[in-house]
Amino acid sequence: MTDGLTRRAAIRAVGAGVLAASLPWFPAPRASAAGRRVDVVGAGLSGLACALALREAGIDVRVWEARPRLGGRTLTDTALIPGRWVECGGEFIDSGHAAIRRLCSGNGIALQDLEAVDVPGVPRDLIGGRLRSGGWADAAQARLAARARSDLQRLGEDRLNAMSAAEWLKGAIPGGTGSPFARYERALVTGEYGADPAALSALWLVADLADDARGAEMGEGPERYRINGGTGRLIAALEQRIGPGRIIRGTRLTALVRGGATPALFLTGPDGPRVERPVRAAITLPPGVLRSVNLRRAGIPAAEREVIRTFGMGTNAKVIIPFTDAAWQRRGWNGDGLSDTALGQTWNATMGEGSGAAAFTSLVGGRAGRDIPGPDHGPAPDAIVRTRLALMDRIAPGTRAAARAGAVVHAWAKDPYARGSYSAARPGQADFPAIAARPQGPFHFAGEHTSDNWSGYMEGAVQSGQRAAREVIARLRG
Ligand SMILES: Cc1cc2nc3c(=O)[nH]c(=O)nc-3n(C[C@H](O)[C@H](O)[C@H](O)COP(=O)(O)OP(=O)(O)OC[C@H]3O[C@@H](n4cnc5c(N)ncnc54)[C@H](O)[C@@H]3O)c2cc1C
Repeated sequence: MTDGLTRRAAIRAVGAGVLAASLPWFPAPRASAAGRRVDVVGAGLSGLACALALREAGIDVRVWEARPRLGGRTLTDTALIPGRWVECGGEFIDSGHAAIRRLCSGNGIALQDLEAVDVPGVPRDLIGGRLRSGGWADAAQARLAARARSDLQRLGEDRLNAMSAAEWLKGAIPGGTGSPFARYERALVTGEYGADPAALSALWLVADLADDARGAEMGEGPERYRINGGTGRLIAALEQRIGPGRIIRGTRLTALVRGGATPALFLTGPDGPRVERPVRAAITLPPGVLRSVNLRRAGIPAAEREVIRTFGMGTNAKVIIPFTDAAWQRRGWNGDGLSDTALGQTWNATMGEGSGAAAFTSLVGGRAGRDIPGPDHGPAPDAIVRTRLALMDRIAPGTRAAARAGAVVHAWAKDPYARGSYSAARPGQADFPAIAARPQGPFHFAGEHTSDNWSGYMEGAVQSGQRAAREVIARLRG
């Protein structure tokens, strides 16, 4: 490991020091720097957070975005049910996610506190063909977290990093690998990380398990908030703050070239190819997409190229089904649950948005997410909706009758501008975020996959974008 700390473990171990580093503090550039243009590639949360920080420091910015829309792996659908919002990508914010919470409050964006939302019913899991009430796995989960804490000490980070999560679970799982809890845990890991446990570094899982227990002791709530009205509101606010004419949509990066200290960005847009020569550039593309950008003349060292070539990505897909009402709640189920069937992780997609029409999310990862039938983003094939409704009916009989037409699927591994849901280190890759974050000459790198503490999360995207902006400003100060 590069610094002996991993992901979320680092933020709490260093505590205030790390939080202070995430404060949006930006040195003022020297007068000569102002007016010189810096380009940002990608208008997801990391790119927009980076561009806003640069603007606030008085730097001229251009943001190049391949899609016709902004937001990248955050996408709010307000058309599925009029008057409701559903999240097709990034959704929940932990109470410890300081940078995104600050970005929201600084831009007038309110959060929805899910602890204050009263969703009738209890969680239910469908595991090993049997219905189990929420809480049945808690004791075993606590034992697994305790084991994670001791294994971090006993085995050490390097050994855990070399192992897969599947290998670690084999020895650590309470009740053995054939137990219902083992099935539960495998489904949980596959949904949370988007990767099958055999394809995930054990260190990522073990550090998170150990850290979740510490976080709970400190009263921190995972997935406590959503953005009121949807992540799209934050994206629109950032776009407005960055200012008109600075974000260019429908224009794709095809190559990066470094000639001495000067970067050249080769782009292609509606008017054909173009070359831009800013003074510096922040590249915020996910690794799977960066793989298809020509980097041969970008001066990127072998270790970084290896990261770009091989960094694991989750393959999560969401199936979102509209209903005339949250019928499952009338049958005592609040919608929360985990299943080792096609349902995966589930929740009420419109919780706290009022009574009446509702939507339900089923999130799958691993092979199930990668191979899900249908488009990348669009109407869900009937077969996958029928399967999910039948399973919902087993959990809350009669629910299916309230389903409406128009279910959608969001299969992020098929999306050519995402190539996955979020980073999920394969065995041996736990230090990849730190390597991916290193600046190379005039190029700076951001995106959730470059965040040591919060890779995978919107928090990691925002923190890394702001970190890249600080690097740029420091270099412009000379
Ligand atoms: C299904 C799902 C569920 C999730 N749930 C949560 C959650 O509950 N909580 C949470 O915190 N996070 C969650 N996430 C993760 C979160 O959404 C991401 O970590 C975050 O949005 C990534 O932001 P980013 O800026 O790093 O990357 P992106 O949002 O991917 O931004 C990169 C941008 O670059 C653009 N681009 C791509 N190729 C090119 C090119 N060649 N040229 C120019 N532009 C290009 C893309 O279109 C995109 O806009 C979820 C993600 C998914 C997919």
